[in-house]
Amino acid sequence: MTTTKSTGDEAPPSTPRAKRPKITAHDVMEYMAPEYGPAEWQPRYSPAEELVYTILSQHTSDLNSERAFLNLMKTFKSVEGVADASVEEIEKAILRGGLAKQKAPRIKDILTQLKAELGNFDLSFLAEMPLEDAKSWLKRLNGIGPKTAAIILCFSLGMPAMPVDTHIFRVSQRLGLIGPKINAERAHDILEPMVAPEEVFPFHMYLIRHGRQICRAQRPKCSECLMGWGCPAKRVMERAATNAAKQKARKRPAAKKKSPKSTSKERI
Ligand code: SF4
Repeated sequence: MTTTKSTGDEAPPSTPRAKRPKITAHDVMEYMAPEYGPAEWQPRYSPAEELVYTILSQHTSDLNSERAFLNLMKTFKSVEGVADASVEEIEKAILRGGLAKQKAPRIKDILTQLKAELGNFDLSFLAEMPLEDAKSWLKRLNGIGPKTAAIILCFSLGMPAMPVDTHIFRVSQRLGLIGPKINAERAHDILEPMVAPEEVFPFHMYLIRHGRQICRAQRPKCSECLMGWGCPAKRVMERAATNAAKQKARKRPAAKKKSPKSTSKERI
């Protein structure tokens, strides 16, 4: 009969493996608040302006969408002015933002719907509605999904709606706050109730800041991350970074060997 000698390093068979702690939304608030500082809500644009701005920001950098929005407002003076303009005129005014051909008819269409339904562009009544009703009201409009609805309600009206952008979606998935099979649309309904209503805005801001500064889409800075203690994606990300570095090193052409210089002695 063969017996296996114990090295003494193995855990006794009955000892359960230490489980990695699961990160919660509460942890996000606790760790990120001191790191990223206060996140106080300040009204930005009116709800209708926010709606137009959000359309302009789709698939566009903040800088370009801001430029396009400012030029649009400078050209037509108000949302009413934009609504009265033709699609071609709107397109011309937002050219700097990119995708003007797709965005101009979308803006015109939504503003036309609002005008037909309300007779004006004052959406402040949404703030008096229960959150879910306000979301549903907005999502009936053509081209308004959960993200745009949440942006308008959160940024313009200060309601506890949680917009899930690409940074928030990525960071939440890596931290394990949402499962790998959850899509961005469902993520809104899952993340929003994880924190108290008054924490929704800072929770949103911290995840965005973390996504921009540390947990970037490419090459996240896991070694500097304050959530590394519990992040289920950390090991995978670090392994991917090591493999990428190895591959890069393999691709690099080997430095040519220099032939040793002859010494004065050899020359003699
Ligand atoms: S440990 Fe890495 S993957 Fe996890 S949240 Fe931090 S930066 Fe992102």
